[in-house]
Amino acid sequence: MSTAAPVRAYLGLGGNIGERAACIAEAIEHLDATPGVAVTARSQLIETAPWGDTDQAAFLNAAVAIDTTLAPRDLLEAILAIELAMGRVRSRKWGPRIIDIDILLYGEETIDEDGLTVPHPHLTERDFVLRPLAEIAPDLEVGGRRVADLAAAVGAA
Ligand code: ATP
Ligand code: CA
Ligand code: CA
Repeated sequence: MSTAAPVRAYLGLGGNIGERAACIAEAIEHLDATPGVAVTARSQLIETAPWGDTDQAAFLNAAVAIDTTLAPRDLLEAILAIELAMGRVRSRKWGPRIIDIDILLYGEETIDEDGLTVPHPHLTERDFVLRPLAEIAPDLEVGGRRVADLAAAVGAA
Protein backbone atom coordinates (compact mmCIF):
# COMPACT_ATOMS: atom_id res chain seq x y z
CA MET A 1 0.00 0.00 0.00
CA SER A 2 1.21 3.50 -0.73
CA THR A 3 0.30 6.91 0.62
CA ALA A 4 -0.74 8.18 -2.80
CA ALA A 5 -4.11 9.87 -3.28
CA PRO A 6 -6.88 7.31 -3.76
CA VAL A 7 -7.87 6.28 -7.25
CA ARG A 8 -11.50 5.60 -8.17
CA ALA A 9 -11.80 2.13 -9.65
CA TYR A 10 -14.76 0.02 -10.72
CA LEU A 11 -15.09 -3.70 -10.16
CA GLY A 12 -17.51 -6.22 -11.62
CA LEU A 13 -18.72 -9.12 -9.50
CA GLY A 14 -20.58 -12.26 -10.44
CA GLY A 15 -21.32 -15.81 -9.44
CA ASN A 16 -23.60 -18.72 -10.26
CA ILE A 17 -22.95 -21.30 -7.54
CA GLY A 18 -24.52 -21.52 -4.09
CA GLU A 19 -26.19 -18.59 -2.34
CA ARG A 20 -25.37 -16.16 -5.09
CA ALA A 21 -26.56 -12.94 -3.42
CA ALA A 22 -24.85 -13.82 -0.15
CA CYS A 23 -21.61 -14.55 -2.00
CA ILE A 24 -21.61 -11.18 -3.72
CA ALA A 25 -22.41 -9.44 -0.43
CA GLU A 26 -19.58 -11.32 1.27
CA ALA A 27 -17.14 -10.41 -1.50
CA ILE A 28 -18.05 -6.73 -1.15
CA GLU A 29 -17.47 -6.97 2.61
CA HIS A 30 -14.06 -8.52 2.00
CA LEU A 31 -13.23 -5.75 -0.46
CA ASP A 32 -14.26 -3.03 1.95
CA ALA A 33 -12.24 -4.71 4.71
CA THR A 34 -9.11 -4.75 2.53
CA PRO A 35 -6.53 -2.17 3.66
CA GLY A 36 -6.33 0.54 1.01
CA VAL A 37 -9.78 -0.21 -0.41
CA ALA A 38 -13.04 1.60 0.42
CA VAL A 39 -16.26 0.65 -1.34
CA THR A 40 -18.07 3.88 -2.20
CA ALA A 41 -21.01 2.66 -4.30
CA ARG A 42 -22.64 -0.61 -5.19
CA SER A 43 -25.22 -1.48 -7.82
CA GLN A 44 -28.21 -3.69 -7.35
CA LEU A 45 -27.92 -7.34 -8.23
CA ILE A 46 -29.10 -8.45 -11.65
CA GLU A 47 -29.69 -11.96 -12.88
CA THR A 48 -28.06 -12.71 -16.21
CA ALA A 49 -27.62 -15.55 -18.64
CA PRO A 50 -24.18 -17.16 -18.74
CA TRP A 51 -21.76 -15.62 -21.25
CA GLY A 52 -19.13 -17.44 -23.31
CA ASP A 53 -20.08 -20.86 -21.94
CA THR A 54 -23.86 -20.98 -21.92
CA ASP A 55 -24.30 -24.52 -20.52
CA GLN A 56 -24.49 -23.50 -16.84
CA ALA A 57 -26.74 -21.83 -14.29
CA ALA A 58 -27.75 -18.16 -14.44
CA PHE A 59 -25.49 -15.61 -12.78
CA LEU A 60 -26.07 -12.78 -10.38
CA ASN A 61 -23.95 -9.74 -11.21
CA ALA A 62 -23.16 -6.43 -9.61
CA ALA A 63 -20.67 -3.59 -9.89
CA VAL A 64 -18.99 -1.54 -7.20
CA ALA A 65 -17.02 1.68 -7.12
CA ILE A 66 -14.00 1.77 -4.85
CA ASP A 67 -11.50 4.35 -3.78
CA THR A 68 -8.15 2.66 -3.51
CA THR A 69 -4.56 3.46 -2.67
CA LEU A 70 -3.48 0.05 -3.93
CA ALA A 71 -1.53 -0.10 -7.18
CA PRO A 72 -3.36 -2.05 -9.90
CA ARG A 73 -1.28 -5.19 -9.37
CA ASP A 74 -1.83 -5.11 -5.64
CA LEU A 75 -5.55 -4.64 -6.19
CA LEU A 76 -5.58 -7.67 -8.51
CA GLU A 77 -3.70 -9.73 -5.91
CA ALA A 78 -6.21 -8.69 -3.23
CA ILE A 79 -9.11 -9.64 -5.49
CA LEU A 80 -7.65 -13.03 -6.36
CA ALA A 81 -7.01 -13.67 -2.64
CA ILE A 82 -10.67 -12.90 -1.84
CA GLU A 83 -11.83 -15.26 -4.59
CA LEU A 84 -9.54 -17.98 -3.24
CA ALA A 85 -10.63 -17.43 0.37
CA MET A 86 -14.24 -17.77 -0.73
CA GLY A 87 -13.51 -21.11 -2.36
CA ARG A 88 -13.19 -20.19 -6.01
CA VAL A 89 -11.97 -23.10 -8.07
CA ARG A 90 -10.97 -22.42 -11.67
CA SER A 91 -12.20 -25.20 -13.91
CA ARG A 92 -13.13 -24.53 -17.50
CA LYS A 93 -12.80 -21.10 -19.08
CA TRP A 94 -15.82 -18.92 -18.32
CA GLY A 95 -17.24 -21.85 -16.34
CA PRO A 96 -19.30 -21.87 -13.12
CA ARG A 97 -17.90 -19.95 -10.17
CA ILE A 98 -18.82 -19.08 -6.61
CA ILE A 99 -17.43 -15.58 -7.09
CA ASP A 100 -15.63 -13.66 -9.81
CA ILE A 101 -14.27 -10.18 -9.28
CA ASP A 102 -12.84 -8.28 -12.25
CA ILE A 103 -11.15 -4.91 -12.37
CA LEU A 104 -13.22 -3.03 -14.95
CA LEU A 105 -11.55 0.36 -14.71
CA TYR A 106 -8.74 1.82 -12.63
CA GLY A 107 -8.91 5.59 -12.81
CA GLU A 108 -8.05 6.63 -16.34
CA GLU A 109 -5.29 4.07 -16.62
CA THR A 110 -4.72 1.75 -19.52
CA ILE A 111 -2.80 -1.36 -18.50
CA ASP A 112 -1.74 -4.13 -20.84
CA GLU A 113 0.53 -6.50 -18.97
CA ASP A 114 0.82 -10.23 -18.49
CA GLY A 115 -2.18 -11.14 -16.36
CA LEU A 116 -3.64 -7.66 -16.13
CA THR A 117 -5.58 -5.77 -18.78
CA VAL A 118 -7.48 -2.59 -17.86
CA PRO A 119 -10.01 -1.47 -18.94
CA HIS A 120 -11.30 -5.03 -18.80
CA PRO A 121 -11.07 -6.37 -22.37
CA HIS A 122 -14.71 -7.47 -22.63
CA LEU A 123 -16.19 -4.51 -20.78
CA THR A 124 -17.92 -2.86 -23.72
CA GLU A 125 -19.54 -6.05 -25.05
CA ARG A 126 -21.04 -7.43 -21.82
CA ASP A 127 -24.49 -6.34 -20.76
CA PHE A 128 -24.03 -8.03 -17.36
CA VAL A 129 -21.12 -5.66 -16.72
CA LEU A 130 -22.43 -2.51 -18.38
CA ARG A 131 -25.90 -2.53 -16.82
CA PRO A 132 -24.72 -2.54 -13.18
CA LEU A 133 -21.90 -0.14 -14.04
CA ALA A 134 -24.35 2.24 -15.71
CA GLU A 135 -26.40 2.24 -12.52
CA ILE A 136 -23.52 3.57 -10.40
CA ALA A 137 -21.56 5.54 -13.02
CA PRO A 138 -23.75 6.43 -16.02
CA ASP A 139 -21.66 9.41 -17.10
CA LEU A 140 -18.31 7.71 -16.85
CA GLU A 141 -16.58 7.54 -20.23
CA VAL A 142 -14.89 4.47 -21.64
CA GLY A 143 -13.12 4.94 -24.95
CA GLY A 144 -14.90 8.26 -25.37
CA ARG A 145 -18.40 6.82 -24.85
CA ARG A 146 -20.67 7.16 -21.83
CA VAL A 147 -21.26 3.96 -19.90
CA ALA A 148 -25.02 4.58 -20.01
CA ASP A 149 -24.87 4.78 -23.82
CA LEU A 150 -22.71 1.65 -24.03
CA ALA A 151 -25.18 -0.20 -21.80
CA ALA A 152 -28.13 0.92 -23.94
CA ALA A 153 -26.30 -0.12 -27.11
CA VAL A 154 -25.43 -3.59 -25.86
CA GLY A 155 -28.93 -4.03 -24.45
CA ALA A 156 -30.43 -3.22 -27.81
CA ALA A 157 -28.11 -5.59 -29.70
P1 ATP B 1 -12.88 -12.77 -18.07
O1 ATP B 1 -11.59 -12.08 -17.71
O2 ATP B 1 -13.09 -12.94 -19.55
O3 ATP B 1 -14.06 -12.14 -17.39
P2 ATP B 1 -12.71 -14.76 -16.03
O4 ATP B 1 -13.08 -13.63 -15.13
O5 ATP B 1 -13.52 -15.99 -15.96
O6 ATP B 1 -12.73 -14.27 -17.55
P3 ATP B 1 -10.53 -15.57 -14.44
O7 ATP B 1 -10.26 -17.04 -14.46
O8 ATP B 1 -11.31 -15.02 -13.29
O9 ATP B 1 -11.20 -15.15 -15.81
O10 ATP B 1 -9.17 -14.77 -14.45
C1 ATP B 1 -8.06 -15.19 -15.21
C2 ATP B 1 -6.98 -14.13 -15.09
O11 ATP B 1 -7.37 -12.92 -15.72
C3 ATP B 1 -6.61 -13.69 -13.70
O12 ATP B 1 -5.74 -14.58 -13.07
C4 ATP B 1 -5.97 -12.34 -13.95
O13 ATP B 1 -4.56 -12.45 -13.94
C5 ATP B 1 -6.37 -12.00 -15.37
N1 ATP B 1 -6.85 -10.63 -15.56
C6 ATP B 1 -6.43 -9.83 -16.58
N2 ATP B 1 -7.02 -8.65 -16.54
C7 ATP B 1 -7.85 -8.66 -15.45
C8 ATP B 1 -8.74 -7.71 -14.88
N3 ATP B 1 -8.89 -6.48 -15.44
N4 ATP B 1 -9.42 -8.07 -13.77
C9 ATP B 1 -9.28 -9.31 -13.23
N5 ATP B 1 -8.44 -10.26 -13.73
C10 ATP B 1 -7.74 -9.94 -14.83
CA1 CA C 1 -14.90 -12.22 -15.33
CA1 CA D 1 -12.03 -12.82 -13.24
